Amino acid sequence: MVAAVRYETLLFDLDHTLLDSDASEIAAYAHTMAAIGLERPDDHFERYLRINHAMWAAVERGEIQPSEVRHRRFEQFVAEIGITADPMAMADEFVWGLGNFGDLYDGAREVLDQLAGQARLAMITNGLSDVQRARIERLDLARYFDVVVISSEVGVTKPRSEIFDIAFEQLGRPDKQTALMIGDSLTSDIRGGSDYDIATCWFNWRGSVAGPDAVITHEITQIGQLVEIVSTSAG
Ligand SMILES: [Mg+2]
Repeated sequence: MVAAVRYETLLFDLDHTLLDSDASEIAAYAHTMAAIGLERPDDHFERYLRINHAMWAAVERGEIQPSEVRHRRFEQFVAEIGITADPMAMADEFVWGLGNFGDLYDGAREVLDQLAGQARLAMITNGLSDVQRARIERLDLARYFDVVVISSEVGVTKPRSEIFDIAFEQLGRPDKQTALMIGDSLTSDIRGGSDYDIATCWFNWRGSVAGPDAVITHEITQIGQLVEIVSTSAG
């Protein structure tokens, strides 16, 4: 019989785990394209998504810094569709939009309310500092999290172990055996957690299929299921 493990330290991803980042991104994109007067912006949204996704994948591989994504995605966007617009100004508008649009997923705040009374919570995010700080302020998230580690502030990203070292150091070096990393991304959250030898909870709301090399301790499809995982593991 396996001994019960209580998760006393919960490490949360933010984008697509607690926050509806798709809604945030759609609104920020519309805001940005309105600001530069681009006609029929919906025609180019898929292109933006492809460019952005490729850039964040490069961040996870350690090839570029998160702060570079901020404007480089718009440099590429402007070049590909052949318009005259200032990528730096677009980046500013977009970052403002990401910070100011988008809410937590249904049920996420209730989960945070409940778990913050049972465990210590930390946020580890690969997002941009100005975006994430604005969201944390607007959505009043700081009261749930003892520690917030934002990759663009510390110069290292998930899945690398150094960002977990920073979080654990700031948390006062809690027992790894009682820590759980919760996130939607197999390549950053789950890979990062398993490489750091802590338990992982994959929030698989997309209904994806994990590859054979993924080391997943728990899998959920609704954020509310996390409460049961943390609670039933109480010894
Ligand atoms: Mg995520």
